[in-house]
Amino acid sequence: MTGGPAGLPRLACFDLDNTLIDRDASFVAWAEWWVARAGLGREVVEWLLANDEGGFRERPELFVGVKARFGLGGDVGAMVEAYDREHPLFTSAEPAVLNGLTSLRTAGWRVAVVTNGGTLQQAIKLEHTGIGAVVDFKCISESVGVRKPDPRIFKIAAEYTGATLEGGWMVGDHPAYDIAGGIAAGLSTIRIGNHHPTEATPDRTPTYHFSSVLQTFPVILAS
Ligand SMILES: [Mg+2]
Repeated sequence: MTGGPAGLPRLACFDLDNTLIDRDASFVAWAEWWVARAGLGREVVEWLLANDEGGFRERPELFVGVKARFGLGGDVGAMVEAYDREHPLFTSAEPAVLNGLTSLRTAGWRVAVVTNGGTLQQAIKLEHTGIGAVVDFKCISESVGVRKPDPRIFKIAAEYTGATLEGGWMVGDHPAYDIAGGIAAGLSTIRIGNHHPTEATPDRTPTYHFSSVLQTFPVILAS
């Protein structure tokens, strides 16, 4: 690859949840474990899956809801705190994803995970999946104080890694946060999957739209 202006390396940014990892599958695995541990029935798993909203429903609200619906005891704050520590342990990354990220760095790209979320849970996910070990920067919104789609979060990633945003990429599943945010930062964008269809609008049209993140690596490498 050729570098960016002034010879700076270019930047490839990736969202984490439902982009590099199958976040929804890991939520199912966590919910089944949590319900079994509490000795509850399948209907509680079904309720959690129906009310998760792809992880976008506030967790305190989710636990208040499940307590009320099934008459459960327990402190909501403690339940959320446990969730933040425990559910990341149900995430995993395909070896091909780790290899793809590594191949970008080998080719001279700087690679950053740019994720909206809490520092503790996102950091555990990055550690547990092995993704954290194969990227240059773990850019977690709570840690850096800026959330996607604010383009400043991508500038932070570029500054931290010594890269330029010019000629760079943002890969993610959320049209408003990942695609609009990446476009606002001047990045080319790739949307993964068909999550959040109601968020897709003409001004959030990605450069490419793929079903799997594995399709993005050769495209970025060839750019
Ligand atoms: Mg996502």
